[in-house]
Amino acid sequence: MKKYDFIIAGGGMAGLSLAYYLSQSPLRNRSILILEREAKTSNDRTWCFWERKNEPSRSEHESGMASRLTHFESILFRTWDIVSFHGTTYAGPIDMGAYQYKMLRGIDFYEFVQQELAKHPSIERKQATINRIKDTPQGGFVIADDEPYIADYVFDSTFLLKLDQPENHNLLQHFKGWVIKTEHICFDPQRPEIMDFRVAQHGDCRFIYVLPFDEQTALVEFTLFNDKLLTDDEYEVELRQYIDQFLNPGAYQISETEHGVIPMSDEAASEIPSDHIVRIGTSGGYTKASTGYTFQRTQRYLRTIVENLVKTGKPHRPAPWFARRFKLYDSIFLNVLEKHRHPADDLFTRVYTENPGRVFTFLDEETSFVEEVRLFTTMPFMPFLSAFFNVLRRKIVG
Ligand SMILES: Cc1cc2nc3c(=O)[nH]c(=O)nc-3n(C[C@H](O)[C@H](O)[C@H](O)COP(=O)(O)OP(=O)(O)OC[C@H]3O[C@@H](n4cnc5c(N)ncnc54)[C@H](O)[C@@H]3O)c2cc1C
Repeated sequence: MKKYDFIIAGGGMAGLSLAYYLSQSPLRNRSILILEREAKTSNDRTWCFWERKNEPSRSEHESGMASRLTHFESILFRTWDIVSFHGTTYAGPIDMGAYQYKMLRGIDFYEFVQQELAKHPSIERKQATINRIKDTPQGGFVIADDEPYIADYVFDSTFLLKLDQPENHNLLQHFKGWVIKTEHICFDPQRPEIMDFRVAQHGDCRFIYVLPFDEQTALVEFTLFNDKLLTDDEYEVELRQYIDQFLNPGAYQISETEHGVIPMSDEAASEIPSDHIVRIGTSGGYTKASTGYTFQRTQRYLRTIVENLVKTGKPHRPAPWFARRFKLYDSIFLNVLEKHRHPADDLFTRVYTENPGRVFTFLDEETSFVEEVRLFTTMPFMPFLSAFFNVLRRKIVG
């Protein structure tokens, strides 16, 4: 059995990003095997994320990194300077400060990375279903389609979080969206709508998300943060109602459908469960629990892992203890949502309209403690205080 330096289990967003960063590093000639069960030839999702325009962020500045602008800048589908928001007491643009909102289509990412990896003969890709991943004294051991493989490190993006522990908050972000082409002009291509709360809340957090491609084409998505998936029909009824009531589209055609479920959980993912196995992407707990955003964090974390592999030979990602406060904030926010302590549409209205610019730095976990306290003062006090004590009780007492 051939021994690889690295096996990447799952060649989706995190697996391919890791392979890409390795291919751009001094480790490019190491033997790398990517095991993925799908061909990855369809546009199975789109990723949106924000980034600072040009200047390095605070943490990059401190670490001496030049810029964290995505390496996938050349294949971005859209970039926006302004986003819109429609909440309870405000509807209009949100100042993004130093940030831009960006959209990358899955298919463009898969093709770009696969073309780049094809230039490196030391990087192999096999289409196979992984049956087992296990640590052994000799290395990380993988069985895929009954074939055994071994490596110094296995980077696993196929592990499923449990999402059922009572001490954790286990909400889901679930959505269904259509790319529609409308008869009438009804979108402003310069402004994606990041949250439009003009849908019945039913005591949950429910909103519409609109990514305009041009004046007559957009991805319109109905999204919920709660713990119960809907039937296809239920998502579609809401989508149709919103499109007819607020967009005035005339006749319209649906050209693509997107459906997704993202964990919004504060489960403590074990990123390095054993000596030769490292979990990455959703499996490694890279999803920001309070928002579901995963793409940009995954890029940041994987770049750190590759830097550490180059410097020390170890795939570690240091997590300073004070930075862990953001996990507590996420838990408190999830608790407020889970226990319906305050209407979610009002919470998001306050977050986005009373903290322009700062909210994106906060969600990137790059604010100072003083900035965080300022943001907290814009939130309703009692619901968050009750949530804080409930989180402590759940996490400590269990
Ligand atoms: C529709 C959708 C839209 C999203 N939009 C955004 C967004 O706008 N912004 C954002 O930040 N995040 C978004 N996310 C969340 C997150 O960024 C994505 O889920 C992202 O793809 C997670 O990357 P990953 O590598 O962890 O998982 P994946 O990309 O799902 O990769 C895991 C891979 O492992 C493979 N695999 C699994 N099990 C096996 C097995 N047994 N054998 C072989 N292969 C296996 C799968 O086929 C898959 O390719 C979205 C998620 C979805 C589902």
